[in-house]
Amino acid sequence: MYTAEEIEKFNKEVIENSSRQHSEFTEGMRNGTCYLCGQKLNFFKKTKPCPHWLLKPKGFKKKHFSLLTNDFCYHQIRAYVFWVANYEKMFGNINNLEDEKNNKKYFEYTVKYKNIEWSFSCSQEDFIGHKKSAFWNKPHYHFQMRIDSKPFINYSDFHSPFFEEDMFTFDVVAGKVPGFGLRSGHATGMQEVLDVSTPEKLLDSMKKAKGEKDGAFKIDTFIEANEGFTISGDEIADLYEKQKKTGETMAKLVKDMKNVKITTYIQPADSLPDIAGRTLRKR
Ligand SMILES: [Zn+2]
Ligand SMILES: [Zn+2]
Repeated sequence: MYTAEEIEKFNKEVIENSSRQHSEFTEGMRNGTCYLCGQKLNFFKKTKPCPHWLLKPKGFKKKHFSLLTNDFCYHQIRAYVFWVANYEKMFGNINNLEDEKNNKKYFEYTVKYKNIEWSFSCSQEDFIGHKKSAFWNKPHYHFQMRIDSKPFINYSDFHSPFFEEDMFTFDVVAGKVPGFGLRSGHATGMQEVLDVSTPEKLLDSMKKAKGEKDGAFKIDTFIEANEGFTISGDEIADLYEKQKKTGETMAKLVKDMKNVKITTYIQPADSLPDIAGRTLRKR
């Protein structure tokens, strides 16, 4: 059971994740300021930890990372990098696909923004705490950060603690708290898209990305003429023309074609980052 106070606190967090906050965030990203602390995104001061440090303002060093995780819970940090990643490209920067994750991990995923990659990893053992360790016997996660593909923070550098509110949020996400649910809102990764969407819905909502690089999904459409029919080249050329004009995906436009069988495959674009794995050492 949770106390009224805890429930209120949780509700507050949900409300804090509202669209008002998100529009402050996007406006800040546009003019280079942080919606959380109000400072410039390139501002760094050791005594003022803020998730925007993860954008690597000048002066931010590996050793400062624990100052950040002492002040901000895991879910705040996670939401921040998800928002940042989605600001650049909706969904396509966040690989939290269950299928691609090491199934021994409680969670493991990689989030990308420009030349920065953040990865979060938590094994079943991390989630309870390393029993044999005097220091890390509490629930924690591991974090990796790469800049231009070069190591900046390694998974093994820190054991970052989960806060009590983190444990509560995990319970909510797992459906263990009656009456509570969590909407991922703007902190949506590739997995959540696949969870809530059917391929039809996904296709409907997609416009063709301007450059192949920009799209979060890769769509392959195969058209096969039904027996006794042929597909005319003109018809295909018309479709391409229409695609250019409307911005609709080919997969959607071909639905108007007669006497054909259409198969569409949707998968995350190749630009989706790989999940950075972690090799476990005995400790
Ligand atoms: Zn800030
Ligand atoms: Zn650990």
